[in-house]
Amino acid sequence: MQQQTWTCDCGTVNATVRPARKSRLVCYCKYCRGTMLHFDKENDLDGKGGAELVMTLPEWVTVTQGFEQVKVLRLSKRGAVRWYASCCNSPMLNIHPSRNFPYGSVVVRGLDDPDALGPIAMRAFPDQAYSNVRASRIAFYWVTMRAFARAALARFRAAHKQTQYFTSEGQFTKTPERLDDARRTQILGLDAKDR
Ligand SMILES: [Zn+2]
Ligand SMILES: [Zn+2]
Repeated sequence: MQQQTWTCDCGTVNATVRPARKSRLVCYCKYCRGTMLHFDKENDLDGKGGAELVMTLPEWVTVTQGFEQVKVLRLSKRGAVRWYASCCNSPMLNIHPSRNFPYGSVVVRGLDDPDALGPIAMRAFPDQAYSNVRASRIAFYWVTMRAFARAALARFRAAHKQTQYFTSEGQFTKTPERLDDARRTQILGLDAKDR
């Protein structure tokens, strides 16, 4: 799919992004929502508490300006790590914590041409939404299956080893921040113990 530019709210951080085709999604999981709440982006959630993302690969997102402002937040032990522009608290990119599973999703609100992403291809974790969400299981499996295939191909190319997010040893290039218990409970809800 056509490359796009992702820009943080204040314009300091710029990245080029290649979105995966037919992979625009709304995620209702408490972590995606919690990330938006943590960064005071509540108004960008949909009415049911969903965050709009588009799938990509870590190798398809390159920060071209302001990487020194990019930081990483970790809300759970096994879940995605969340890269954001610290200059203005703009959430940017979620990636799988293991370099060997190249999966990423970009926060749509910073992209220059959201319309080019096409319609919403799936709604993930509808059970965690604020209220009832109609979500197709078939769409979920289909989009997820293609993400697995994309990850496998990326590993085959070995390009997953050349991103800005992992060192050559496979460690994060920036130390993930953790939130204290009070803040976690505030943004994730009362059942925020699973870390
Ligand atoms: Zn900024
Ligand atoms: Zn999510």
